[in-house]
Amino acid sequence: MIDLHAHTTASDGSLTPTELVALADEIGLAALGVTDHDTVGGLQEAVQAAERHPGLRIVPGIEIGVDYPKPGQFHLLGYFVHYGEGPFRSRIEYLQENRANRNQLMAQKFAEHGLALSWEDVLRESGGGQVGRPHMARAMVTKGLVATVQEAFDRWLADGKPLHVPKVKLSPGEAIELVHQGGGAAVLAHPKFLQRPNPDDLAEELQRFADLGLDGLECYYSQHTPEETAFYLAEAKRLGLAVSAGSDFHGVSKPHVHLGRIFAGAAGADDLLPALEARAAGA
Ligand code: AMP
Ligand code: FE
Ligand code: FE
Ligand code: ZN
Repeated sequence: MIDLHAHTTASDGSLTPTELVALADEIGLAALGVTDHDTVGGLQEAVQAAERHPGLRIVPGIEIGVDYPKPGQFHLLGYFVHYGEGPFRSRIEYLQENRANRNQLMAQKFAEHGLALSWEDVLRESGGGQVGRPHMARAMVTKGLVATVQEAFDRWLADGKPLHVPKVKLSPGEAIELVHQGGGAAVLAHPKFLQRPNPDDLAEELQRFADLGLDGLECYYSQHTPEETAFYLAEAKRLGLAVSAGSDFHGVSKPHVHLGRIFAGAAGADDLLPALEARAAGA
């Protein structure tokens, strides 16, 4: 069993990289993809922690949030990226600086809107890693300003709402190129969240991304139905894309998602790594 999509406290997951690796080993995973949002900050710790678990292979990854028309979301997974010092890491760090500036601007708005919420409250929710809107939402719940994380987004944090400040986002082509610069394989995460209006339009979009150099498709995903999985497997075959499998485990912030539990036929997912690795090497 493998799971190539999981988050840690380096972004909005609730387990540290060390804890995530221990859990992956405990449930018997053969391979774990560590794919934090827009950061490679958890990878070194994950790789080190895995040295104590010889049966478990770590796939160093990232999940880049890409500019895409609403209501769709384009998240690009990069696998086998060279996350040490170098041009790839520098580009990622530039994106992180932009995020930090944006966070500051958002924090200034807390007081402007009379909210009893400080940056320290937000940091307390973050586990020491990269901070984003999900942590602000959780802090608002903790402080009793809203009842749920979703209400925090709907009233305050969603795009266009009072606290929102946009951040720099790469286009699909730029993000794919960035992953390739980092020596990685570029894989479209949870394609259902592109939210295209119909299958023909979705197929055209996937063709466009393949033409931009996309390497793979996360056909097996914890929230895909069996029908969706079958559709994406057929599309991957049509477009010559490698197939990936991931749960999108976040820990307590997505309690319904469990590490290694990838529904809808993921039994066939065990031998996917060689093709993904070959695409990374060919990048
Ligand atoms: P950030 O990277 O700080 O802009 O936060 C992006 C994350 O916030 C996404 O990955 C989602 O988890 C969450 N998010 C964004 N928009 C919404 C929304 N409208 N409702 C709930 N969660 C959202
Ligand atoms: Fe997340
Ligand atoms: Fe995602
Ligand atoms: Zn994810």
